[in-house]
Amino acid sequence: MGNVDFSNVELKEGFWLNRQKTTREISLPAIKKAYIKKKRFEATECTYKKWQFWRKAPHIFYDSDVAKFIEAWAYLLAKERDAKAEQFIDGIIDNIAKNQRPDGYYNAHFLVVRPGAIFKHRPDHELYCLGHLIEAAIAYHNATGKDKLLGVVERYCDYVEKRFLIDKDTGFTCPGHPEIELALVKLFKHTGKQKYFDMAKYFIYVRGTEEGDKGLNKKLNKLNPWLDGYYGQDFLPLREQRTAEGHSVRACYLYSGATDVALIEKDEELIYALKCIYENIVDRRMYVTGGIGAKALTEAFDEDFILPNDRAYTESCAAISLIMFARRLQEVERKAKYADLIERVLYNGFLSGVSLDGDKFFYENPLEIDHAKRLIHLGRYPVACRQKDFSCSCCPPNIARQIASVGSLVYAVDDSSIYVDQYIPSTASFEMGESKIDISLDTLFPKDGRLKLQICGAEGKALKVRNPEWATAFSASEKCKEEEGYLVFEIEKNQKEIEISFDYAPTIIPADERVKTNVGTCYVKYGPFIYVAEAVDNNSPLTDYSIRTSEKALLKEWSDDYYAYTLKVPSFYKEENATLNMIPYFAFANRGESDMYVYINKK
Ligand SMILES: [Zn+2]
Repeated sequence: MGNVDFSNVELKEGFWLNRQKTTREISLPAIKKAYIKKKRFEATECTYKKWQFWRKAPHIFYDSDVAKFIEAWAYLLAKERDAKAEQFIDGIIDNIAKNQRPDGYYNAHFLVVRPGAIFKHRPDHELYCLGHLIEAAIAYHNATGKDKLLGVVERYCDYVEKRFLIDKDTGFTCPGHPEIELALVKLFKHTGKQKYFDMAKYFIYVRGTEEGDKGLNKKLNKLNPWLDGYYGQDFLPLREQRTAEGHSVRACYLYSGATDVALIEKDEELIYALKCIYENIVDRRMYVTGGIGAKALTEAFDEDFILPNDRAYTESCAAISLIMFARRLQEVERKAKYADLIERVLYNGFLSGVSLDGDKFFYENPLEIDHAKRLIHLGRYPVACRQKDFSCSCCPPNIARQIASVGSLVYAVDDSSIYVDQYIPSTASFEMGESKIDISLDTLFPKDGRLKLQICGAEGKALKVRNPEWATAFSASEKCKEEEGYLVFEIEKNQKEIEISFDYAPTIIPADERVKTNVGTCYVKYGPFIYVAEAVDNNSPLTDYSIRTSEKALLKEWSDDYYAYTLKVPSFYKEENATLNMIPYFAFANRGESDMYVYINKK
């Protein structure tokens, strides 16, 4: 019951299967190459000595990069084994196992650089790294049956339990960078061991209390005043919070783990807080692309409606963490609005994080690039072209694991209903009480909005298909009713086939003018895609274009390169009739550096 895991879902030809092939053939080999060069894998050998001044010491979050690389590969190996990839990963796991201390501790940075500081310095990612290792271990075990890394993380977790929950002799009580909470719930579900759930619950519940290091690190605050309780989401216990605050990746990892815990605990008070926080994000602190975390200095949520387009931080990992949070809230309440949001993030602010050819990545995903403006207004701007690697390289393997496991976003099930949340062509088989359900979804989406669903074994149940927020109308081959954003079909026979067609057209939408930087502008949307104008396709400057929001005749042209449509938008260029060429947002900056605008002046 719940969201159907990607392991039960087989993708068919289409938008996402193409992306998975690119992830397997291009992205992961590119990440591997970059990580070998930057000695991230080598760090697991733990051979660095402090006097070796010519060597770069392993960084505090190298373990998490390595773990996400393993996890992403594992999701692909679950579908198709690859002896060469496994041999490489097995070597890394052997290193980790060999260097794990007898008491269970392992961290490639602390073991060789600062052994005296183990579990003493809250902001330094130790438990965050363990969280990612847990997720990697579970994924690799599921994919290959190999449990060496699982054994390592279980022993490590037992040590964490001893130090943090039993002896309570550590320098802090809960992690500076959340992640381990959601990982521990996964480990509880994977092993059935209650203690791992109790640890997750402890870390969530103690956070923001006086016992739980209220304020990220009181000593550090004097030097770095921005590292306050808001930055680390511990200005209050989470159940008392109502707005999304601080470092956006930390925040949404925390909210995700908290939703997992609240769901199992049936903690209504915590669920209410999480829903308030979610609404605050999507109504007031999120870009139209689904990007979050506007503020660069602290990689954090800003105040309501402070969403600069040119300096948007909007980390790729933050988009992923928002998908994780929304998917979990969908287990709390089956409302289509969460799947609408996931779709918005997936096809825009998430997917822009990786190049079309798959080997370059954005850490930040701005909504405007204007080189002339950058020369006049000095200061920090996101890079204008995707990079092969970053010194802080959390995003590339995170993008890879999200694409590799995208099948987990398609279907869900509860006591009486089967849900179709994303229009990703696929088949799925799963248990529903006593029944075995087989479902098949055929669609050319995003080429058109027609779906063909075949379902077997669901007699007496309901099939609920999301009616997307961008559809203007729908038609269906069977009678249905609407409920919480879903089209509900009663399945009266063992075998059933249903066809649905969603109508939608490119639309010009006036900007939400509560965001001051967008006053007097509009943007273009078609289905789930937000569109951009790039200078490479248009006259310069792009700011001399304007569009009438009443305009209807937007011509579309299918692009095999994008697997989406490009648009020709009737517009004005310096008062003359003109055509503005637009491409999907996710595809910007694939043809070299170019000025780019999402928001176009309104005529
Ligand atoms: Zn990142």
